[in-house]
Amino acid sequence: MALNPKRTVAELEELRELTGDENGAQRVAWTETWETARAWLRGKVAETGATEEIDEAGNQWFTLAGDSERALLLGGHIDSVPNGGWLDGCLNVLAGVEVLRRIAEDGRPPLTVRLVNWADEEGARFGRSLFGSSAAAGSLADQDELRRRHDADGVALPDALRAHGVDLDRAHAARAQLESAAAYLELHIEQGPVLESLELPLGVVLGTFGVERHQITWKGQAAHAGSTPMDKRRDALAGASKLALELRPIAAEVGEGAVCTCGGVVCKPGIVTSVVETAEQLLDQRHLNAGSLARLLSLAHEASERFAGEEDVEVVWERIWSIEPILFDEQLVELADESIREVCGTSHRLPSGPLHDAAEVARAGVPTVMLFVQSLRGLSHTKLEDTKSEHLELSVQALDRLAAKTLAKLSA
Ligand SMILES: [Zn+2]
Repeated sequence: MALNPKRTVAELEELRELTGDENGAQRVAWTETWETARAWLRGKVAETGATEEIDEAGNQWFTLAGDSERALLLGGHIDSVPNGGWLDGCLNVLAGVEVLRRIAEDGRPPLTVRLVNWADEEGARFGRSLFGSSAAAGSLADQDELRRRHDADGVALPDALRAHGVDLDRAHAARAQLESAAAYLELHIEQGPVLESLELPLGVVLGTFGVERHQITWKGQAAHAGSTPMDKRRDALAGASKLALELRPIAAEVGEGAVCTCGGVVCKPGIVTSVVETAEQLLDQRHLNAGSLARLLSLAHEASERFAGEEDVEVVWERIWSIEPILFDEQLVELADESIREVCGTSHRLPSGPLHDAAEVARAGVPTVMLFVQSLRGLSHTKLEDTKSEHLELSVQALDRLAAKTLAKLSA
């Protein structure tokens, strides 16, 4: 059976029919529809002869034994957000099925080849993204906190997992799955506008952005909107506003893909007749380089102190969350570049803004790379998410080339 990328597109459509409705994909992890998708996947892989295993974190593994126990991993996630798109996550699962078929057809591979369908990448129901991959990577450090989480209907996370055969206390045992991993490959839709704007079907992902998230609280003095002269005000919103606009020159100065976002400001008292006393501002900053990320943060910090002085208000910073940049494997980046050039002539290297399961696997020390395929209008996490069929087909070919090259390199 030669590689048949058109079959992948047909199977993506089949999955959409099976697990979506008029509002989009409904494969939220730890639900019946998600199990339906997993059972359907099991049926698709069966013909390759790969054996199935569900690990302690609920990840679904399909293993094609090779001459060596060292394993080439292909991974994606079949779960979606509610009303999600038809490609996010499941593209690589189904492209991976096609690559498994081609490899199985070619005879026993030199390395073991495994396809993994990670459990709960999206965190849509309980707000914990990358559950399965972080368990496998050994970075599931928040179990105590997860034990207390509930979904919108009040169902506790451990109960929902138990209904699908997963014991939260034992999830970390999934770590054994990565012990034999020699390389990890993941294809994903870009979920952004870069490749489309360059009119390129495919790109190589250099790594995932490091993120700094802070809440910045500005404190001024509430005062009557009518009786307080303009030069006598201590307006907390003025500080927050200046900083929100200053993020543009800060991102431009640091450059190389730097992004900064003021995601919201909550004002108190928040009435039309009062100067703002407190402004709670949310800031998200991202960069692929750790030094540049630190510089983004310090520039924003300095600017906030300056604006606080100008506006005679106080400013306090509090970190909400942060993660370091995760860089993918240089040799695999080269092989991915080669694979893309062979399939469509031109390649492009770009960072990933969103986190992916691949970041967890890379963090665990497994050489990793990702391919991005163009997203139309950069849209994702909506039923409007789309990619041209011919680009999807090219992406399956590129993943197959990359898998073949990686196997050749690892068995040399
Ligand atoms: Zn995804």
